Amino acid sequence: MLKLIKNAEVFAPKFLGKKDVLIAGGKICSISDSIVMKGNVEVEETDAMGQYLFPGFIDTHVHIVGGGGEGGFSTRTPEIAFSDMVEGGITTIIGTLGTDGYGRSMENLLAKAGALEEKGVTAFVNTGSYQVPVRTFTDSISKDIMFHEKIIGVGEIAISDHRCSCPTFDEIARIAAEARVAGMLSGKVGVVNIHVGDGQGGVDILEEIAQRTEIPRKHFIPTHMNRSGYVFEKGLQYLRNGGNLDFTTSTVPLFIEEGEIPCYEAIDRIIKEDLDISKVTLSSDGQGSLPIFDEKGNYRGVEIGRVTSLYQAVVECIKLKGIKIEQAISLITENPAKIYGLKGKGKIDVDFDADLVLVDKGDLTIDTVLAKGKILMKNKDILVKGVFEK
Ligand code: ZN
Repeated sequence: MLKLIKNAEVFAPKFLGKKDVLIAGGKICSISDSIVMKGNVEVEETDAMGQYLFPGFIDTHVHIVGGGGEGGFSTRTPEIAFSDMVEGGITTIIGTLGTDGYGRSMENLLAKAGALEEKGVTAFVNTGSYQVPVRTFTDSISKDIMFHEKIIGVGEIAISDHRCSCPTFDEIARIAAEARVAGMLSGKVGVVNIHVGDGQGGVDILEEIAQRTEIPRKHFIPTHMNRSGYVFEKGLQYLRNGGNLDFTTSTVPLFIEEGEIPCYEAIDRIIKEDLDISKVTLSSDGQGSLPIFDEKGNYRGVEIGRVTSLYQAVVECIKLKGIKIEQAISLITENPAKIYGLKGKGKIDVDFDADLVLVDKGDLTIDTVLAKGKILMKNKDILVKGVFEK
């Protein structure tokens, strides 16, 4: 059935003013000051007076089959619940393996992405995990990216971290080279998601690849770049030099106390320094473990990341730092769609997927979520849940 959203103040993410938006076949087919349907056409109408309409949110780094396990098998985190995505307004997700690329597999990851798709959202995955050599789905990174439509890139490859496999310059460069060519051959960007740890090296290896090879910077997306002041400063220099940066929204108060930079502080600094915000994204690291180690590297406890932190971080940017709505929203819509090459995603525009989030103007709480035209949440009620969710 056709759906018509009326009187919404549209952030596309550019502000378009008050508009009516018509949806058909899972796509946006018209955006206009006033759309009036004539004749015997059945239309499901939503009056969005007093609400903002945003593009559906894109979370580019989620452990959809769980993550972690740094404190033993019992600390492996669970798979994502579909309703968590809906609650967080997330309509596109990129699943990734992390520390544990042994107890979890690419088959596992692809099956879960399929499960999320069946319920209505769009799901992609990265091939590999922290470790190098990369454990792929087929026999190579190139074939994974070229021949599996859901495999969008490689990652998260860990560097500068006590849990990484200490990859060399040559190894990381070759991974990026493979992703680049496979991406070119299959109409994808061919991205490499890089987990950056607390180590002294930071993103040095990526900087070196940019200096010493012909591989463009656009292929690398270093993440967790707000994990400490030191890593953040290195990241700012990397951004000034033309690289992408991703900040993690899942956190615990202890991490902030220990020097993690809250996303709103990181974004505020980037705007104040007039750096290229279009190269900056936020991701939740949802379902990932947030392991706590003491200064000697001994495990001390674990928390779990949530995808709902993604939009929460955007709200904090707006409320705590007065960052413009269109700028804040672009961090989880237009910017990731461009950087990861997600066609039909990240914008409210004609022929784009009808991935949409309505929020209340006053407190910015999420009211309604649509993915490919299907209503997943309405009037704050989650209408679609996972099969085994209560
Ligand atoms: Zn990570």
